[in-house]
Amino acid sequence: MDLFDFAPGREGYYGRYGGAFLPEILHSTIEELREGFRAAKSDPAFWQEYRQLMREYSGRPTPVTHLSNLSRQLGGAQIYVKREDLNHTGSHKINNVMGQGLLCRRLGKTRVIAETGAGQHGFATATMAAKFGLRCRIYMGAVDIARQRPNVFWMENLGAEVVSVEDGQRTLKDAINEAMRDWATNMADTHYVLGTACGAHPFPEMVSWFQSIIGLEAREQILAATGRLPDRVYACVGGGSNAIGIFQGFLDDEGVELVGCEAGGFGPGKGLHAARLAYHDASVGVAQGFKTYFLQDEQGNMLETHSVAAGLDYIGVNPILVWLWEQGRVRFEAATDAEVAGTLRLVMRTEGLIPALESTHAFVRAVREAPSLGRDAVILINQSGRGDKDIFTVADALGDSNWKRFIGAKAAQYAVE
Ligand SMILES: *Cc1c(COP(=O)(O)O)cnc(C)c1O
Repeated sequence: MDLFDFAPGREGYYGRYGGAFLPEILHSTIEELREGFRAAKSDPAFWQEYRQLMREYSGRPTPVTHLSNLSRQLGGAQIYVKREDLNHTGSHKINNVMGQGLLCRRLGKTRVIAETGAGQHGFATATMAAKFGLRCRIYMGAVDIARQRPNVFWMENLGAEVVSVEDGQRTLKDAINEAMRDWATNMADTHYVLGTACGAHPFPEMVSWFQSIIGLEAREQILAATGRLPDRVYACVGGGSNAIGIFQGFLDDEGVELVGCEAGGFGPGKGLHAARLAYHDASVGVAQGFKTYFLQDEQGNMLETHSVAAGLDYIGVNPILVWLWEQGRVRFEAATDAEVAGTLRLVMRTEGLIPALESTHAFVRAVREAPSLGRDAVILINQSGRGDKDIFTVADALGDSNWKRFIGAKAAQYAVE
């Protein structure tokens, strides 16, 4: 499925969302990227090279696992999981950065920059730069650097220069501004590696395309395992890249319901969560190069967001997903921090899996909905990453003994203390 096939109209727009809103100075470099991407996308050899790289470097195809214990205990649908956690560096983020690395080589770029909040995207980008022999600079807010020491350590040891951003609140937003400034100054040799399916065109389409490898594999694998398509596919939604990645495998299959799971944080209420669509708190605006739903106030100032999962803690969302949501093709739900803690515990104890806190948002909805489906129903969850990185956060979250109240009676019955 080519996203352009179902998005007629102006290139880079999905309904009224998307576009490229950038300062004049960046127009030539974004045009160069757009043309380079367009050429790569229409060259079958490029996709072949990408798939081979991901096979040899990242262990693709990642498997699909049947959660037989959990399915039996919940007494409803058969639950299957697409194991993006088994990628090199521990999540689906490597799919995107390796694709952009190949594109850098095609475009003759010798230097990459990126911005990172929790550090996961910076870590993946530093890995890619080491593999491709590119110079690499990662912008990170000073506050985030202090919070994410292990990731900073690895980025530096992988050969990246990590720049501490001391402006503003010294977090992700300030790091983005700094990265944009660098790009405008050094665009002749530098590519800006965006970490999710957001930002100016062609980034949403490009990142979605690289991540479509998840859905392509998953569709074949679930057919092979069950002889049928899933009834529902669940994925967590931060910027939206892993979700659009797996959803693309099933967009043409009308019987497959697609469910995006956002960060409900402390629950509904401005500033308490990052659920842009599920909680109806967001509104359409233009920021960070594109038009989408943002969590903002009436004046267009971005709201504070909160989630136990750093990777979902983001104000905007992939414009393609918004457009699919508007058409009723994707349903959006939220999972709160407390639900995530309880469900993580349940999944660890019943299946021996440790999903990332981000991915656990998708498990929350699947665990809630599975009991109401028949035993011959099939649901598929995208486990976007592994939870090792979350060790201290999880330790804190599970210290709160209230978690059982939040995961639904059926699940709580089986969640071992
Ligand atoms: C970064 C991250 C996410 C959120 O990003 P998307 O672009 O929404 O996929 C989800 N899961 C994991 C494990 C991540 O590291």
